Amino acid sequence: MPTQRELLLNHLAPTSDSPIGLEIDRAEGSYMYSPDGKKYLDLISGISVSNVGHCHPKVVEAIKNQADKHLHLMVYGEYIQSPQIKFADQLTATLPESLNSVYFVNSGSEAVEGAIKLAKKATGRMGLMSFENAYHGSTNGALSLMGNEEFKSPFYPLLPETFVVRLNNFEDLKKIDNKIAAVFLETIQGEAGIRVPSIEYMKALREKCTETGALLVLDEIQCGFGRTGKMFAFEHFEIIPDILLLAKGMGGGMPIGAFISSKEIMSVLSKDPILGHITTFGGHPVSCAAGSACLSVIQEEELIQSVQKKEVLFRKLLNHEQITEIRGKGLMLSVQLKNSQQLFSSIDKCTANGIVTDWFLFCDSAMRIAPPLNISEEQITEACNIINDSISN
Ligand code: PMP
Repeated sequence: MPTQRELLLNHLAPTSDSPIGLEIDRAEGSYMYSPDGKKYLDLISGISVSNVGHCHPKVVEAIKNQADKHLHLMVYGEYIQSPQIKFADQLTATLPESLNSVYFVNSGSEAVEGAIKLAKKATGRMGLMSFENAYHGSTNGALSLMGNEEFKSPFYPLLPETFVVRLNNFEDLKKIDNKIAAVFLETIQGEAGIRVPSIEYMKALREKCTETGALLVLDEIQCGFGRTGKMFAFEHFEIIPDILLLAKGMGGGMPIGAFISSKEIMSVLSKDPILGHITTFGGHPVSCAAGSACLSVIQEEELIQSVQKKEVLFRKLLNHEQITEIRGKGLMLSVQLKNSQQLFSSIDKCTANGIVTDWFLFCDSAMRIAPPLNISEEQITEACNIINDSISN
C-alpha cells in the first residue's frame, strides 16, 4: 500500500521537489492535529487565513446553515443572494465612505486581476507601478506586478507598461505620472519578509497619486482583517486607497476575495462592454456566509483589541541572541536570523516540537509569525520558548 506521502507525490501536481508534507486530520482554534493525534500550534494560519482560528464554531455553523439552504445558483452578480448582500453591507460599514462597492471574487489573485482591469478602464491608461519584492499573486496580471525577477522572468512576456520601484524611496515617486493607471502596494509587504512603509511615505504616495490621477490600490490580502492590530492596515497610515484588495482571512477558512472601490469607479465595469469582469464562483454563498460570520467574530470577540499586546509579548519573549531583528506590525511579524540554513534548521526543530512556522518567498532567512489572532498568551509563551530553543548558534 502506498503511503499518503507517496500518493501526494504521485497524483498531486508538485509545487516543489520537497513539499512539507505535514499530514493534518483536523484543526481547531490555534491547533492542527495529525492522524496519530500529534498536536501542532499554528503560528502561520495557512498564511494569514485563519485569523479567527481554525474551524471557529460560528463560522462552521454559518457554513452548515447556508449549505442547507442553497449552494451555487448563478454566475456572480445576477441573482439576489442574501449572503452576498449581507456580507457586502457589513464590509462597507467597516470601511470609509468612498469604499462602498464590493466586487466579490474567488481569490487574492483574482482580486488583483479585477483591480488591474478596473484601473485601466477607469483611467483609460495602461501604466502599472509596483514595488521591489512585492507579491500580488500567481496569475499573469498579478505576476506582472511581482517585484522579484527570479520568480517572474520564466513566465515572460507578461503585461506591458509595468515597472517596479523602491519602497520608502521618495525620489521614485516622481515616476508616477499621467500615464499611470494604478500603483499597487501591499500596505504592509508580506513575502518581502514583512516591510512596513513609513507614514510620511504613505502620505506622499497618496498625494502623488491624487495629483496625477493614478489610482492607489492597496493590497490587504495578507495584512487585512485585524492582522496588524487594525481592521485594515491602511488605518495605521491615515490614508484611504482608491481600490482595496482583500482575500485570505476574509472567509474564515473558506475561499473568497474582493476588490472594493467607489460606486463611481466600479461602474465602469458594467458598461462598454457590459460584464467587464465575469466570475462564476466569485462571492459563493457559502463563502459569503462564512465571511460574514468571520467578520462578526472579529468584531464581537474584540479580537483586534489584543493584537498589539500580543505583538509586544512576542517581541519580548523572542530573545535569542542570534535574532538580529523583528519586523512587522501586530501579529504579522518576521524574525530575522543569520541565514537560510539557520532558519530552515530552526523551522524543522520547531515542527518536531509541535510548532508550525515558515519562511517568506523573497526572504528565506526570516521566520514568519502570523498566528490566529485569538492565540492565547500561554500559547505565545510556549511558542517563543520552543523557537528560542530551536535556533542554533
Ligand atoms: N497578495 C498578497 C499580499 C498575498 O499575500 C497573496 C497570497 N499569498 C496574494 C495577493 C494572492 O492571493 P491568492 O493566493 O489567494 O491568489
